[in-house]
Amino acid sequence: MKRSAFFLDRDGVVIRQVSYLHTPEQVELETGVPEALRRIHDSGALAVVVTNQSGVARGMFTREDVEKVHARIQELLAPHGERIDGFFTCFHHPDFTGPCACRKPAPGLFLEAAETLGIDIPSSFMAGDKFSDLESGRNAGVRQSFLVLTGYGPKYADRAREEGFAVVQTLSDAVRTCFGEER
Ligand SMILES: [Mg+2]
Ligand SMILES: [Zn+2]
Repeated sequence: MKRSAFFLDRDGVVIRQVSYLHTPEQVELETGVPEALRRIHDSGALAVVVTNQSGVARGMFTREDVEKVHARIQELLAPHGERIDGFFTCFHHPDFTGPCACRKPAPGLFLEAAETLGIDIPSSFMAGDKFSDLESGRNAGVRQSFLVLTGYGPKYADRAREEGFAVVQTLSDAVRTCFGEER
């Protein structure tokens, strides 16, 4: 049986926004992330990161650097008994590596995750801090996409509301909306 997922943008949602972050030392969890992940997992859903890392296409850092950052995220979550169930990354940028099907707002990363992890996209959710994250969720066909007001969120709040997306303070708020209060 397929499972639901909470798709998560990485920078500005799971970890603090730092432009072209690429070393483990720069990684800091956003507020309330372990609690949000616990609620996702308690509900039986998967927590899946979908992230654009065009710094690789730009030659600013390598795929291995990105892997190390993701390993660091898992390391910071482990003491909380939490984890990310999958990281799906677009390493491209159209100006440097040509068009691709995975750079958000394209839905490629969602489709790859769904295929790999057995996810039912129509019953899944997305949270991001940019308008393109909301569009990626819409393009993939998730049930609901949230703009969080961490990271770049405040910059996109008006447009998100105008286009009918939910706007919430943090990832925890988004998850609570979907899966309720009870443990
Ligand atoms: Mg972001
Ligand atoms: Zn791509």
